[in-house]
Amino acid sequence: MIAVLKQGATKQQIDNLCTWFKGQGLDVHISEGKFYTVLGLIGDTSKIDVDMLEDLDIIESVKRISDPFKSSNRKFHPEDSVISIGDLEIGGGNFQMIAGPCSVESPEQILEVAERVKASGASILRGGAFKPRTSPYDFQGLKADGIELLLEAKKRTGMPIITEIMNANHIPLFENVDIIQVGARNMQNFELLKELGKLDKPVLLKRGLANTLKELLMSAEYIMAGGNEKVILCERGIRTFETYTRNTLDLSAVPMLRELTHLPIVVDPSHATGMARLVKPMAMAAAAAGADGLMIEVHNDPSKALCDGPQSLTPEQFDDVAKRVRKILEVIKE
Ligand code: PEP
Ligand code: MN
Repeated sequence: MIAVLKQGATKQQIDNLCTWFKGQGLDVHISEGKFYTVLGLIGDTSKIDVDMLEDLDIIESVKRISDPFKSSNRKFHPEDSVISIGDLEIGGGNFQMIAGPCSVESPEQILEVAERVKASGASILRGGAFKPRTSPYDFQGLKADGIELLLEAKKRTGMPIITEIMNANHIPLFENVDIIQVGARNMQNFELLKELGKLDKPVLLKRGLANTLKELLMSAEYIMAGGNEKVILCERGIRTFETYTRNTLDLSAVPMLRELTHLPIVVDPSHATGMARLVKPMAMAAAAAGADGLMIEVHNDPSKALCDGPQSLTPEQFDDVAKRVRKILEVIKE
């Protein structure tokens, strides 16, 4: 249920109303917009008398929300969420380019890639340390050492870092990581999501291989329900009957999610297509569709990459993609 407050509502009146709602066993989510304050009420609202509420002096309107996702719902929070990552912001018109290798392989590799992508305009460095591989015989990542190398690259370049978590027991290792990534395979690892909900740190939540947007939002809800509202959603392609591409990039997810939620939306054209040559057109299309950011795999020598070489761009190719994306962003600016 949401209650939209009248413009003149005082802080004291709002506090009193919130206290009353809490006394009814509800959680209250306050969203202060430019024009209106919206109270989102989470919990069993079946006993709340809508007519009685609408009669209150400070209430403009009351609406029951039937969507199962509440905290992430745009109806609860009409304005875009803007999430801070160090000195950067994402969402609400702030676009960020995340780039780096699929996995961290060596100090030389991660430092070279970090410096190159930064020079091309990437603002956040990615790199997998714990890798979710289909085969247990493939490279599983440098694990804790990989995080150390990312932190070193962060120190040298000043770029915030993002890396994937697969196990809640590893959370202490992520203390100085700026964004924790939940990969597609763990989108519905609810125990992991609940633990991430206890942190005060941005989480980039990737859409599962075969998950609907509603399921993605319900997973975001698991993190937000714990108190961590810093969730960034990521569309990375889904499984369809098409086999030429690694996945099918569902770009309509961007405007659809934009309607449904206030959370920032990032697109990953690398895992979506599986092919380096398709990354540029899909990155441009994602920017045109209104994404708040891109996540792109870049390797200093893709032919030797230990993971996802075929979809990795060279630093030169990334430079070209970044330039094109900036042009698109310029064109679509209102
Ligand atoms: C990744 O970003 O390295 C990754 C494993 O992606 P996904 O979870 O989308 O497959
Ligand atoms: Mn990868």
